Formats: sequence, C-alpha cells, structure tokens
Amino acid sequence: MLGSPYNRTGNQPLTLGILGGGQLAKMLAQSAYQLGLQVAIIEHGASPAGAMTKLEFPGGWSSETDLDEFIKVSDIITLENEFINPEILERIAERRLCFPTSETIALIQDKLIQKQTFNSAGIPTTEFGAINSVEAAIEFGSVHGFPFVLKTRTLGYDGYGNATIRNANDIHAAWSKFTQTEEPRELMAEKFVNFTKELAVMVARNRRGETAVYPCVETIQENHICRVVIAPAQIDPALQHLAKEIALACVEAINGVGVFGVEMFLTADGKILVNEIAPRPHNSGHYTIEACHTSQYENAVRAVCNLPLGSPDMIAPAAVMVNLLGERSGDGIPDSVVDSLKFPTASLHLYGKSGSRKGRKMGHITALGKTADEALESAIGSARALIW
Ligand code: ADP
Repeated sequence: MLGSPYNRTGNQPLTLGILGGGQLAKMLAQSAYQLGLQVAIIEHGASPAGAMTKLEFPGGWSSETDLDEFIKVSDIITLENEFINPEILERIAERRLCFPTSETIALIQDKLIQKQTFNSAGIPTTEFGAINSVEAAIEFGSVHGFPFVLKTRTLGYDGYGNATIRNANDIHAAWSKFTQTEEPRELMAEKFVNFTKELAVMVARNRRGETAVYPCVETIQENHICRVVIAPAQIDPALQHLAKEIALACVEAINGVGVFGVEMFLTADGKILVNEIAPRPHNSGHYTIEACHTSQYENAVRAVCNLPLGSPDMIAPAAVMVNLLGERSGDGIPDSVVDSLKFPTASLHLYGKSGSRKGRKMGHITALGKTADEALESAIGSARALIW
C-alpha cells in the first residue's frame, strides 16, 4: 500500500500508529509529519510523543478500549520498543499492517533464540548457551572460562539483566537475583568478549526488501548505558565494510522490515562479533538526523510504509552524539540552554520527559565536524554548558 501519504477517498493523511511514546517515537513522529502523515501514539500514561498528537491513547495496550481505538485510527503500525507481548502484535496484525512483524519480534525478544538465529545464518557471535541451573552455569565457566556474562533471555535493557561472573562464587548471587523473584527469568550465558571497541550499524529495510545501510559507528558505554557515539567509527575501511555486511545479514536473517540497530564487538584480534539487534530506531543512530542525507527515523517511516528509502550516507566527514543523562530526580527541565546553544555545529535535542532521574535519557546533542575530534569537542562542550 501507500504510494502516497494521502488516503484518496477521504483526502486524509494516512495515520502511522506507534506502539510506545518515548523519545524514539517522538523522533519517528517528527519524520512522519515531515512526510505528510498523521501519527497515533499508544503508551501507558502521558509521553513525549503522545503530547504531539490528538490521536493519543494513554491507556496503553493493556487497555482494551485504547488498543481497539488506536488500531482503528491507524493505517500502518510500528513500534519503538521490542518488549511488546507478541500476542498483542499478532492481534494487531489481524487488523492492520504492522512492522516489524510479530515473527521478526519473536526471533529477537529472546536473546538465546536471537543468537541461534544469527548463528544458523552464519553470522559470528561469541559462544553462548542456555543456562537452566547453577550447575549448568558452573559447567559453562569451566568450558569457556571466567569471566563470562550471565544474561536474562528476555526484557534486558541498559545492562539490567546482565551479570559478569568472575568466578564460581558469583554464580549463586546472580542466579538468585534473576530467578528467585516474582517474575523469574530464563537465563543464558555468553563467553566474555575482550573487545577493543563496540560498534553499531543501523539498517533500514522496506517491504520490498530494499535496504539502506548506515555507516558503522563506535559506541562508548559507561555502566552499560551508551554515553557517546562517534560516526563513522575510526576503524580500518575493510572493517567498516565488514560491519555493514554483517549488520545487513542480521536484518535479512530475521526478515526485518523497518529500521534496526545492530550492536557488535570489535575484538582484539580484529574480528567482528554480533552482540544484539534492536528492531527499531536506536540510540546509536540519533546522529543520522543531522549527519546523514536521510535519518534513521525517516527511513523507518519510509520502510514500514513501503516507500523508497533515502540515502544513509553522511553529509559531513564526522559526527559525534552525546547522550544527556539525568543527574538526579527532578522535573527534568534545564535551568538554561543558552550557553549550550552557542556551539554552531551542535544540535540540542531535549525529549520533554515529565521527570528526570539519575541515568535517565533526557536528551542528546549531535555535533558535526571536519574530524571526529572536532565534532567530539563541540558535542562535549555543548553538553557541559547545559545547566540542569
Ligand atoms: P542490554 O540488552 O541490556 O543492552 P547487552 O547484552 O547489549 O544488554 O549488554 C550491555 C553491555 O554489556 C554491552 O554493550 C557490553 O558493553 C557488555 N556485554 C554484553 N555482552 C557481553 C559479552 N559477551 N562480553 C563482554 N561484554 C559484554
């Protein structure tokens, strides 16, 4: 469907429904509006993206009436987070086109199935295995060595679901933390990767299978949260090329439609291993708004609407994105942005969240430069000048 963003019979813009109302949904919505679409947002409570539209459903998908109305007003539906119950996605798919599909999401939500899917497609990952008992974890450590990483198979984000196991004594504590709770989780283990850099590539793929692969970027995490993204990654051109090929293979392996963030490790011996894939716009792709011909958000909208994709190429030699994380609990409104805006190549994005807490993603800054160092200096300078 969709040769035009207008519905000819009613002369109404088509409506893109987005499951989720956070910053990714907000930036998706901005691109949808640019292309002449309308946007509907369903989220549990008020949200940055919900505030942009009259078609806001704050009861979330756990409210039958809000979900029903949301589906009714939407022509095509997409999502900003992968933690949606697949049954809800299947119910939506019975009534509307929904991308990424529930089949794709089912291959991603469980990190064990995700890695098995990639390995079956010949995509390199670290060694991993299902862990169903403390004994199995001890066995994994004795085969693959310590440290290793114990992970919840589902619902992990920003490192909350991960524990680094340094020796057999760490296993009991991690086991009880993840399994002896109200909602016990299934676990997997991964051999610890001695990486020199973490890399990421965004890939857009439309319903005809056309693809746009963005440059490989370097992501720098602190406490498992991405702090800085450097685009392009300062790596050998052959590794740039390889990372893009691997990312594309990941998206094809799950028959993905939409935009996907593929996170990878560059190892000390020059190998690229896939860590995980996100079936939605990704933090590591914020830089594409200013730095690429077509942003990840615009290509996500184009992809799910089956429109031709725009060029993912960069329009500046380098870009750096810095996340603005909450420093304390509060209203999340900066006291002053004045000095932050005095950096001419830096663009400030504030998400408009209703409250801040330590580590919460409140906004980001992207700066362009002739070199990565120049862009970094400007992005960091602008971020430091913001007064919270
Ligand atoms: P989440 O889904 O919570 O983002 P990830 O599985 O992506 O969790 O892991 C978060 C971070 O933990 C990664 O960015 C990386 O720094 C580290 N990490 C994850 N898996 C491994 C591994 N097998 N070896 C070494 N570090 C890892």
